[in-house]
Amino acid sequence: MRIPAKKSLGQNFLIDQNIRGKIVDALDLKPTDILLEIGSGRGELTELISQRAGEVYALEIDRRLLKTLTDSLVGRKNIRVINQDILKLDLERLINQNKIKAKIKVFGNIPYYISSPIIEHLLNFHGYLSEIFITVQKEFAARVVAQPGSKEYSSFSCFVQYYTVPKIIFHISKNCFRPSPKVDSSFLGLKIREVPAVSVRDEGLFFKIIRSAFNQRRKILSNSLQEVVTPGILSVFFTKTGLNPNIRPECLTLENFALLANLQFLSKKA
Ligand code: SAM
Repeated sequence: MRIPAKKSLGQNFLIDQNIRGKIVDALDLKPTDILLEIGSGRGELTELISQRAGEVYALEIDRRLLKTLTDSLVGRKNIRVINQDILKLDLERLINQNKIKAKIKVFGNIPYYISSPIIEHLLNFHGYLSEIFITVQKEFAARVVAQPGSKEYSSFSCFVQYYTVPKIIFHISKNCFRPSPKVDSSFLGLKIREVPAVSVRDEGLFFKIIRSAFNQRRKILSNSLQEVVTPGILSVFFTKTGLNPNIRPECLTLENFALLANLQFLSKKA
């Protein structure tokens, strides 16, 4: 019996064989690779992935799909189906319990509405991961890869680019999914950096400054950062960088934000 797709779980199944093939190729799987799949659905992609990877951990939240999923994977010894919400997955525990030594690749054709929480959750475990590949809404992918100066550049671009090197691998038409969503998708790759993009003394302060700056992106920097950076430090920052004090937050690079955060951090220590 066909199980009806649940809109509330973002169940837009990928039915296009060509795109399935392109995704599996892009994952560049080796027999030693350990892959965590988020939202395995009915298991069509899981099956293809398992032919090339060493081990696959297939996560699916919807109990109704588990029978279809396990039935479609019968005989494949390198897949473990886990009925769990990705946002509650303790990846460190999974790694320790299964004595996983290599860094993990993550793949997911994930529900659009939890794209940011999933990326944030996974990046809590960045040290255990090598790459993340996900399908996301096209506009969301543009925000992730956006560079300073563009209107898509946001605090989320900074957060992701601090830990990873993001890349839009290809776009996917909404017609490749059933039921078809309202918007097109992009297949996004996030290569985890060995060390973060910039050197920061206090990550909490660094991200707080970035969030404050973008919270009021229409304001000039000195106004939006009033609560988190002292005027003296801002003035040192503008002197050191030669940037115009009327600059808007979306023009600052990660290096600029790191300098600002480190100056503020050191001033408190002094
Ligand atoms: N992998 C299948 C495919 O490509 O056709 C299904 C993709 S469908 C867009 C998203 C899948 O993620 C669904 O099977 C859904 O039940 C599952 N899902 C939704 N929220 C989830 C969560 N928080 N944790 C794990 N799986 C979730």
